[in-house]
Amino acid sequence: MSYGYTGKILHVNLTTSEITVEEPEEQFYRTYMGGSAMGMHYVLKETPAGVEPLSPDNVLALCTGVVTGTPISGQSRLSSVAKSPLTGCIGDAQGGGYFPAEMKFSGFDAVIIKGKSPKPVYLWMHHGEAELRDAGHLWGMTTGDAEDKLKEELEDKRIEVLQIGPAGENLVRFAALISMSNRANGRTGMGAVMGSKNLKAVVVRGKQKPTIANPEKFKELQKLGKTNLEPTGMDDFGKYGTPDVTSPQNKSGGLPTYNFNSGTFEKHEEINGKTLYDSHLRGHERDEQNRFGRDTCFSCSIKCKRVSQIDEGPYKTEAKYGGPEYETLATFGSYCGISNMDAIIHANALCNMYGMDTISCGATISWAMECWAEGKLTSEDTGGIELKYGSAEAMVKMTEMIAKREGFGKILAEGSQKASEIIGRGTEDYLITSKGQEAPAHMPQVKRSLSVIYAANPFGADHESSEHDPAYKAYPERMEQIGLTNPQEKLALNEEMMRFAMVT
Ligand code: SF4
Repeated sequence: MSYGYTGKILHVNLTTSEITVEEPEEQFYRTYMGGSAMGMHYVLKETPAGVEPLSPDNVLALCTGVVTGTPISGQSRLSSVAKSPLTGCIGDAQGGGYFPAEMKFSGFDAVIIKGKSPKPVYLWMHHGEAELRDAGHLWGMTTGDAEDKLKEELEDKRIEVLQIGPAGENLVRFAALISMSNRANGRTGMGAVMGSKNLKAVVVRGKQKPTIANPEKFKELQKLGKTNLEPTGMDDFGKYGTPDVTSPQNKSGGLPTYNFNSGTFEKHEEINGKTLYDSHLRGHERDEQNRFGRDTCFSCSIKCKRVSQIDEGPYKTEAKYGGPEYETLATFGSYCGISNMDAIIHANALCNMYGMDTISCGATISWAMECWAEGKLTSEDTGGIELKYGSAEAMVKMTEMIAKREGFGKILAEGSQKASEIIGRGTEDYLITSKGQEAPAHMPQVKRSLSVIYAANPFGADHESSEHDPAYKAYPERMEQIGLTNPQEKLALNEEMMRFAMVT
């Protein structure tokens, strides 16, 4: 088999409990490589035309990448691909952590799941073998509790678990897949697809390390990554994480605020990366947040993941549910006019506990807040909750109600576009969606090639499908290596910027 791969693709039919292993030719790997391309291949090949996304016939592909599992920064990624219940188009969500590498170590490059189990099950993939096990006792559990239970019953603390929480079980249309209780394959509702199949979790463990064609050169590359952390600014990125871009986004007018009515938030400093690091990461009271408030993915020296913990008060939060990324600080923060960092941290933890995409969840709530401000929603709709911009209490309450599909949360669990179809009354005028997916935290006016990607991307508004406009000028050496040598003026939207978007 080619270097990097295990050479095995697992196929699971949950209706019949049949499990088979495919061993594709090398040409297959050379054509589809891994990740989203491989997932798309199986979804297009095996999904019947016109399939209902939450029906047993939808196919869910979980695919590692070519270099996933090699000891180098930034490679432990998993793509999940299926027809999306949020958009009705192809869905795609990426996630990191330790699960992707461990899945490859378990002996499989990908798993293709179809059908629906008659009762809740989990898939246990280990040391080249796979089996379905009863998950009735896990159904209804939050991600943290289910992961603890699985570690206990499999008597192995080193298993990795990719699972749905109660939101996926409740078919919230933007439910996520969660690993480590805090890493999300967040977008396009892949958690609802897994929930519709009665599949609670995929659990992996193994020791099969991918082979490398030129180990000596690889070691050089590894060293280069570590020594380059400071010169490339990656050490700062690791320290403050993605939240570090909050205030620069605000400065450029690119921080969506009040449901995209503005690109600047007057309280941006209260929700930026420095405030999160200085005053909210675990260990900050003792100035030890660098050690206790940061986490990483398999073999990554950057260590950009946030860990926050709140010990008391209404927003008490356990460290195992991680900490907010930039997108989350924006969607639960500036989108909703909220600067209460504890409330944002708690809403982020609720999404990780119940298994929901923080972008669609926060953006759907901010859409409802604008509808409230415009008099299109009243307390009769919301069951007495005042969905006012700036109300941290209402935002947190609504996040939990969405996950549980309780009260007005049942309507918002459909995502903002479908919710507007249910409510009517002109609420569609306040939607910020593309193909039914809520837009991530970048004002399209400021990143204009990204705005075209928002509109044209097959799985809806997305911020990870191309490089963002400022990168063309900011990284000339990297751009040159991929044939991009003609950076354009700020805010340009022309043929060259579209070439930039397509190439990246
Ligand atoms: S720690 Fe951060 S930079 Fe490293 S792989 Fe994970 S998400 Fe990427």
